[in-house]
Amino acid sequence: MKRGRWILPGDSAARLIDGVGLAKLIRGEIAADVAVLRGSGVTPGLTVVLVGDDAASAVYVGAKEKASREAGMAGETIRLPSATTQAQLLALVEQLNADASVHGILVQMPLPSHIDPDTVIRHIDPAKDVDGFHPINVGKLLIGHTDGFAPCTPSGVQRMLTHYGVETRGADCVVIGRSTIVGKPMAALMVQAGAGADATVTICHSRTRNLGDHTRRADILIVAAGRPRMVTADMVKPGAVVIDVGMNRIPDASTKSGTRLVGDVDFEGVRQVASLITPVPGGVGPMTIAMLLRNTVRSAQRTLVA
Ligand code: NDP
Repeated sequence: MKRGRWILPGDSAARLIDGVGLAKLIRGEIAADVAVLRGSGVTPGLTVVLVGDDAASAVYVGAKEKASREAGMAGETIRLPSATTQAQLLALVEQLNADASVHGILVQMPLPSHIDPDTVIRHIDPAKDVDGFHPINVGKLLIGHTDGFAPCTPSGVQRMLTHYGVETRGADCVVIGRSTIVGKPMAALMVQAGAGADATVTICHSRTRNLGDHTRRADILIVAAGRPRMVTADMVKPGAVVIDVGMNRIPDASTKSGTRLVGDVDFEGVRQVASLITPVPGGVGPMTIAMLLRNTVRSAQRTLVA
């Protein structure tokens, strides 16, 4: 596909953005970077800390460890019981901050309710905060400094847009959702000056009036609301690019598990209107881990030039 060329409405249903394929490509690039780093005596190390026994978190953490190992990195998961105190967790974070073999530290959320997530995030060395949640990295993202870390899911979305040649400059980009992990950093990335950004950004949330009036103006619609199939075809401008960040489990008696994963976008309806669309699963999800590895490699590269 030529850069900047969008498929016009009426041609056919939207083209699918292949998050699985793109994530594989990026992981290949990362493996090559890791090989170079290892040649210089540095093995990028990602340490994930999991507190408690949340089943979904255990699956995410396992996937992160596996992906980092496959890329040739040192991937370690530290599993702590749910009774771990905040002081114990902070002591572990300090230890990882001081460990030169650890380039990325990720404390898996959610934490048990007796631990304050913001206090934990603030204890992580910003230079190892590969999730991009430390206030220093949040500030750098907003300022437009590129020596911090941007959160993985929004970075993955931006990479998708550039890879598929979507013209972002001057585009109306509407983001639904204002969380600190997706919506707000997504908007901050798209509003920056430069390639893959330069968009005119609107952030919508649960208090937004007449949501459809905003979404129908969007050339690029990014949805991260956590509401199954809330964006319907009538809310989408013909030819728009639609990125569905949502991951919602809904009941489905026809599956073995009795549930099914759906996004925040009514995929079947919206794909008839949009020019490009991400499926769920297989869209944004795989990109998040790829960008986590990318941030960890970047952290390791910085230790060489520091
Ligand atoms: P949050 O619940 O933290 O935030 C949801 C946001 O959507 C809030 O800002 C909320 O507004 C807004 N919202 C909720 N309902 C509506 C509505 N009816 N109209 C307009 N705005 C609405 O969720 P996250 O940002 O953490 O995640 C969003 C989705 O993305 C979830 O499905 C999550 O599972 C998924 N996700 C996927 C990832 C991936 O790798 N693919 C990674 C991270 C998340 P308000 O602030 O007013 O409450």
